[in-house]
Amino acid sequence: MNKFGLIIKYSLFFISVSLLAGIALYFLSFPPSFIFTTLIILAVIYAGTIWLVNREIIRPLKETSFISKEISDHHTEPGHEEDFSEKISEVRRISEKLEELVNRRFITKEIHDIYNSLLSINDRLISELNTAKIFKVNRNEFFGNVAHELRTPIFAIQLSLETLIDGAVHDKSVNLDFLHRAEKQTERLKDLVNDLMTISKYESGVKLSKRYFSLTEHINSIIGELKGIADNKKISIEYIPELRNGTQVFGDSESIKQVFVNLIDNSIKYSPENGKIIIRSKEEPKEVLISIEDNGSGIPEKDLPRIFERFYRVDKNRSRDRGGTGLGLSIVKHILEVHESKINVESIVDEGTTFTFSLKK
Ligand code: ADP
Repeated sequence: MNKFGLIIKYSLFFISVSLLAGIALYFLSFPPSFIFTTLIILAVIYAGTIWLVNREIIRPLKETSFISKEISDHHTEPGHEEDFSEKISEVRRISEKLEELVNRRFITKEIHDIYNSLLSINDRLISELNTAKIFKVNRNEFFGNVAHELRTPIFAIQLSLETLIDGAVHDKSVNLDFLHRAEKQTERLKDLVNDLMTISKYESGVKLSKRYFSLTEHINSIIGELKGIADNKKISIEYIPELRNGTQVFGDSESIKQVFVNLIDNSIKYSPENGKIIIRSKEEPKEVLISIEDNGSGIPEKDLPRIFERFYRVDKNRSRDRGGTGLGLSIVKHILEVHESKINVESIVDEGTTFTFSLKK
């Protein structure tokens, strides 16, 4: 019985009531003309109600159920990534249709609210599909890049080992050289795997333990750790704090350390001997502004928008020679995003580079 439509239920009810009313009027000895007029009036009310119910409730409900079905048909990811754009445009079309329906002139408040809810569900679906599309495309590209990056050192190690096996191992003038080459490439592999593990740690949503810590102490201890590498190139690292005594910042100190290490390490890598690195921290009302400045090789303007992309290097060979994986800055960007902060860069070729970001107080 529940499966009968509203119009059938209402018709059955109305016809029964009209019949009962007609019979009652007949037994109460009302004149036939009166009974006939009453039944005509009831029939007009019936037709009017059916028209109104159909227009205001039945048709919108049918449209709603049709649209809900369309939305649910699209809610899963398409099989092939090529279909994403097609799917997104189909879902956009549903939103356009819903907007038309919402803006209809004669519409009851309840139906208006249902359309609006469907519209927001659909909009969310569009944004989820967009994210999934970006992620999927990036993921494929990412795996391709990882394979490529791993292949280069593996081939180099293989080549060194084969040369040694083929006889070079007995040649005292070159055998150590080949072993050192293989060792250097192993170092590269290790750095790459470490960076990949860091990325995967942050991507899988690792829980950061954010707390207040003293920025000045943190920076001084990081500089202490990096001093050895800087000294090798006679590069000086100076920290100029413009902070009130005891200013603390809020964040995950381990990952913030990684930000400093990656940025300072880059400054050392891309600066000539006798270079100078200056770290500044400036007190702002709600945050501390931090900058890391070097007088190294600088970055060409055209590359600046891309240096935070994974595996992007301005000069592939120069970066590889200096032990770069091309992942350092993308890790920095990721960590700062988790801290609701953004990194900016200014650079002039052959003059130097300055990275700035802020941390909440
Ligand atoms: P890499 O491991 O190659 O250093 P990063 O992601 O850390 O990768 O940096 C991306 C690219 O940006 C580097 O290859 C380098 O060309 C450029 N870069 C980063 N920091 C500096 C800097 N301080 N000075 C000059 N170039 C830099």
